[in-house]
Amino acid sequence: MHPDLDALEDARDDALEGAPDGGAAPRDRLGRVLRDLRLSVTDRCNLRCRYCMPQEVFGADFAFLPRADLLTFEEITRLAGLFAARGVRKLRLTGGEPTLRADLPALVAMLRAIPDVEIAMTTNGTLLKSLAAPLARAGLDRVTVSLDSLDDAVFRQMNDMDFPVALVLEGIDAAAAAGLGPVKINAVVRRGVNDHTLVALARRFRGTPHVVRFIEFMDVGTTNGWRLDEVVPAADLVRQIDAAFPLEPVEANYPGEVARRYRYCDGAGEIGFITSVTQPFCGTCTRARLSAEGRLYTCLFAVAGTDLRGALRSGAGDAAIGALLDRTWRARDDRYSEQRSDATAGLRRVEMSYIGG
Ligand code: SAM
Ligand code: SF4
Ligand code: SF4
Repeated sequence: MHPDLDALEDARDDALEGAPDGGAAPRDRLGRVLRDLRLSVTDRCNLRCRYCMPQEVFGADFAFLPRADLLTFEEITRLAGLFAARGVRKLRLTGGEPTLRADLPALVAMLRAIPDVEIAMTTNGTLLKSLAAPLARAGLDRVTVSLDSLDDAVFRQMNDMDFPVALVLEGIDAAAAAGLGPVKINAVVRRGVNDHTLVALARRFRGTPHVVRFIEFMDVGTTNGWRLDEVVPAADLVRQIDAAFPLEPVEANYPGEVARRYRYCDGAGEIGFITSVTQPFCGTCTRARLSAEGRLYTCLFAVAGTDLRGALRSGAGDAAIGALLDRTWRARDDRYSEQRSDATAGLRRVEMSYIGG
């Protein structure tokens, strides 16, 4: 088995050529357009996944953002509208854990008024049982739920809060029942931690519309103790799943899609592999990220962001803020995962829980 490289080449060409709305879409220095905006709505979380928020760093003494520093729903919506005018077609709520932000359905309802955007959310699923229906009613389109293993002991160890698998599964069911499916299920793979439990995870969702996606453990931030030998290359994961349930590659859904997609040869659905480390996809990266306090990042591995909250709160008009967005995107030449250079060595890269993945 090998990834469908032709499809990836096509996706790259589309990302370079497919500027929406003619001239309104800025292009970065590598010719990439702006399509996706990830909105982190809080830097807090109720889990402490060791690959993201290790307890030793994110403990009782950790200084999370003060409430006054968070963008208000009005500020988030205004910025999202300005991004949409520049070609963004997909908004993704993230965090920290986005469902911890009070009144989240009210934010979704406000974002829903922006024309022609899809609204998705990435969540750990812990609060979905009660929130899925109100979020769907407010206009959320889809959810991605993170679940690293079906083995309860392994999952409790990975989330480091002793949180059980069963409640996340109930959250996934609630999301599907509310019309937020097919649900994508993200599992970060760490060698020696959960890589022996992946076939079981795939098996659980075979034959359902939901799509499991295995993610290579990434060296994002500076606190998660990342080591290359803990990364299981996606090619090995594909081989592992293929041996249990034969797979064949599927073409990318749209330019810039991050997962290598496969379908089960017996028609039991799809599965994806996110190969950020071993086969980076910077060439088709059309994503911008807005932190909960209003900093704009053009790469997951950035060390600095552009302060948009300052512009908002100084009374700048839409034209001035829009020009700042254009300038920031046009100056972008990020391709960290392709270079994997020492350019950021010794610098404090932004944390996943702050920027939202
Ligand atoms: N709390 C939500 C959740 O867990 O889905 C949203 C935020 S979380 C930072 C977004 C995604 O990043 C999750 O799917 C999580 O598993 C993934 N993630 C976090 N740290 C990672 C790492 N070091 N490598 C790969 N993926 C990571
Ligand atoms: Fe929380 Fe998500 Fe990070 Fe886990 S991956 S600690 S659930 S923000
Ligand atoms: Fe995009 Fe940066 Fe990730 Fe490359 S490393 S895919 S530029 S976020």
